Amino acid sequence: MKNDKLNIVDQTQIKNCESNTDLSRELNFEVRTLTKKQIREEVYNKYKGHCAYCGREIEYKKMQVDHIFPKSKQHWCGHENMQKLNPNIIIPTKVDEIINYNPSCRRCNYHKNNLTIEEFRHMISNKLKVLNTDWHYIIAKDFGQIVESAMPVVFYFEKVSTE
Ligand SMILES: [Zn+2]
Repeated sequence: MKNDKLNIVDQTQIKNCESNTDLSRELNFEVRTLTKKQIREEVYNKYKGHCAYCGREIEYKKMQVDHIFPKSKQHWCGHENMQKLNPNIIIPTKVDEIINYNPSCRRCNYHKNNLTIEEFRHMISNKLKVLNTDWHYIIAKDFGQIVESAMPVVFYFEKVSTE
């Protein structure tokens, strides 16, 4: 069988590569080394300056970089059993990769905190229950000032991916 470029690279060769450029040439794909600023810019542009969750426009300097899969749960990475327990959870192999970053407004980042996407969705879905324990909310609803909806929680990044 003809040697594929990927097949001829072993751990020794990776160690011997003097730079990422050598490695990328060897692996035949682009290895990018991004500065913190470039990472921030790339994350900001991911949804054209919008929060990935609520969709509000965010100022570049106010954007918070959210770990889509929470860093605090990185010990789950590589645990196939976790995925079997909840197939909705996508567990990455590494959490500190640009693919695991989402642009977020301060508010969404604060509420998402260390939750996975599905846990965050569940938490937002429960907000109406919480509001219905507040008499200010209840009276406003009873006087027609608030109309509740049974709309499912769909995040901005999900809406734009289906457009
Ligand atoms: Zn937001």
